[in-house]
Amino acid sequence: MYYKNDTGGIMKLFLKGIFNDCFKHEDSNLLYNQLSAMKKKIKRIAVLTSGGDSPGMNAAIRAVVRTGIYYGLEVYGIMRGYQGLLEEDLFKMESRSVANIIQRGGTILKSARCKEFYTPEGRKKGYEVLKKNEIDGLVVIGGDGSFKGALNLSKEYDIPCIGLAGTIDKDIAGTDFTIGFDTAVNTAIDAIDKIRDTADAHDRLFIIEVMGRDAGYIALHSGIATGAENILIPERKTDAEAIITSLQEKERRKKLVNIIVVAEGDEYGGIELYRLIKERLPNLDTRLCTLGHIQRGGSPTGLDRLIASRMGYHAVECLLEGRYNVFVGILNNRMNYVPLEQVAKRKGRIAEEWMKVVETLSA
Ligand code: ATP
Repeated sequence: MYYKNDTGGIMKLFLKGIFNDCFKHEDSNLLYNQLSAMKKKIKRIAVLTSGGDSPGMNAAIRAVVRTGIYYGLEVYGIMRGYQGLLEEDLFKMESRSVANIIQRGGTILKSARCKEFYTPEGRKKGYEVLKKNEIDGLVVIGGDGSFKGALNLSKEYDIPCIGLAGTIDKDIAGTDFTIGFDTAVNTAIDAIDKIRDTADAHDRLFIIEVMGRDAGYIALHSGIATGAENILIPERKTDAEAIITSLQEKERRKKLVNIIVVAEGDEYGGIELYRLIKERLPNLDTRLCTLGHIQRGGSPTGLDRLIASRMGYHAVECLLEGRYNVFVGILNNRMNYVPLEQVAKRKGRIAEEWMKVVETLSA
């Protein structure tokens, strides 16, 4: 246990960080960063939320603020992501600034996209604001785009950045969870269950489009959890003919209630699939429902609050330990620190085992 203003404790944390990392990574940059931590004393940090909002961001902000204060740091909140940074829209946060927010969706710091930050001039402006306000480290809660912004800033200027993966899409490699994903899946499950009730009452086929950008995780998780007959995801080629054939077969067997969950990034998407089925199976009573932005809102689930709290806590530890320019993930229930340099979209295959489950259970 380390206590506020406990320099010995902080040094222990720092050394623990060095040794852990020496064993874990062979990344010379990390060692360089860790050594430079000896020179840089972190006294004041800032936190911002950027890109698309996701439920649980507030829990993450709370964790960063409370952990920072616990360790004797000053913590500033930057409004509206990088846009607010460029406009010097920041304020000092106290423990009570984050009271009663762990259960709230959205983000009290608001979020935005900022074109200017893509440019070196924009980032220079951002750095000058940080310097003027004596900010020694920055915690960025957002998606992979926000991490790229943080990486560029940290490469160009001496400002350590820590990322927290806040996105409902779970499309970042190196973490089993992203803040907001579980809530979005549960919101989709709740909606699909309700749709199944009405589909059942009228013997209808429902095509339900869920979010996820170019990743199919929300579709896969919500589809399995609601017993969907088909799940269409971008990671897997959609065989439309097979879907038509199986619907014909179900029609013949008088199985008239069917739920097809489609990821928005699938090659067909909800609308295309709806058109195709209307054209090929005109006798089926087919409806299309796009869940849309309800998946971004609402009170975060217990899991999202938990991971946001853990990640936020470890983000501050990273800054204290000199484990700079990483994003904090959780892999196999252990903290995983991925250098921002190596941030990549989680791509490609969804485990064959998962697809086998879908096929077996919907047969
Ligand atoms: P989501 O996954 O919810 O869309 P995101 O963080 O990926 O979140 P983006 O719109 O890609 O969302 O990025 C958010 C902001 O991060 C951008 O508006 C921009 O200010 C900054 N950003 C993104 N990419 C870069 C980059 N390559 N260089 C500098 N800044 C960037």
